[in-house]
Amino acid sequence: MIPNKNVYLDYAATTPVDPRVIAKMLPYFSEVFGNPSSVHFYGQQAEAALEHARKIIADAIQARQDEIIFTGCGTESDNLAVRGVALARRKEQGTSQILISPVEHYAVSHTANQLADEFGFKVDYLPVDKYGRVDPADVEAYLQPNTALVSVVYANNEIGSINPISEIGKVCRKHNVPFHTDAVQGAAYLLMNVTRDQVDLLSICGHKLYGPKGVGALYVRHGQTIHPVQTGGKQEIGIRAGTHNVPNIVGMAEALLLAQVELSERTRKLTEIRDYLIKNVLEKIPECHLTGHPSIRLPNHASFVFGGVDGNHLLMMLDMAGFSCSSGSACKSGSPKPSDILLAIGIPLNWALGSLRVTLGLDTTMEQIDSFLQVLPKLVEKAKK
Ligand SMILES: *Cc1c(COP(=O)(O)O)cnc(C)c1O
Repeated sequence: MIPNKNVYLDYAATTPVDPRVIAKMLPYFSEVFGNPSSVHFYGQQAEAALEHARKIIADAIQARQDEIIFTGCGTESDNLAVRGVALARRKEQGTSQILISPVEHYAVSHTANQLADEFGFKVDYLPVDKYGRVDPADVEAYLQPNTALVSVVYANNEIGSINPISEIGKVCRKHNVPFHTDAVQGAAYLLMNVTRDQVDLLSICGHKLYGPKGVGALYVRHGQTIHPVQTGGKQEIGIRAGTHNVPNIVGMAEALLLAQVELSERTRKLTEIRDYLIKNVLEKIPECHLTGHPSIRLPNHASFVFGGVDGNHLLMMLDMAGFSCSSGSACKSGSPKPSDILLAIGIPLNWALGSLRVTLGLDTTMEQIDSFLQVLPKLVEKAKK
């Protein structure tokens, strides 16, 4: 899929689009180009494609078709969930506490912060263990009569740990508090089931699972009230206005379908390579720790911290050697600030500055990892200050 000679090891930042997905999308750029909101033939054709995509996504996560809202990206899904539910709950019940984990993606945490700074909400943070996981008993302890919404990431983008989502969902349902989970990373490798997990809102996007960039979806459980955050026309039952990006929506649906159908095969292949990578990095490199849970983690995800290493320098040297990795979430690369997520799980500052995230994908081979393992120890040594 990737035509150049550099080795891409940053699949948590984004993935290439699967050729099977591109083939599904192509007719919707020029043949079936209508606006799904138009009443005529062209509009009906586009609307049929839109609703078919909605059904595929609903089926994949065990939801109803009318519970899927299309958005412009994963970030927008998170914004809509957090802001839309916080505003609706305050209007209906006067609640104003937002309960999130300290290891959320900025799409959730910065939205919650804005609600606190500008709209009078209060954000409280759930504790996490050293792997960045939330204990459902803590959710129970932190819930208040005043809680508007709980949001906990399904699988962490930076350290790969998977949260006990169905146990957290059970606690929230018992107390009748809406529960949102950011499954943007999780949906690529975990079986989503909003009924089993008792989730009220769930975010996904296309480009983390071999679909296109610039498209997302939010599951909103039937009966859950939510305020629109993008106002305009009547699209998406008035919750998300704007003409639909039909090719991208069709592509995201196909990508999610393939991810779920091929889940066990992809997981088996990637877990083997990931475990080989982790074992060798820990063996070959002194002063090195795995971050995130050793086994309850995404099958394609390996993340480390190295003592006394400048992580950005290491990334640049890896890039020059032909390996594209990340030091944490993609948006932070290039800035010398340590990751908030690593600090939240108790990693000391001088270690947190030496972080490396290696995320594998469908094109990753053992040979690539072997050549990576050839150069990494030398470059880590060089990057020691
Ligand atoms: C990538 C990512 C997002 C943002 O999705 P975009 O489609 O890039 O806006 C949100 N949450 C997590 C966990 C992510 O990994």
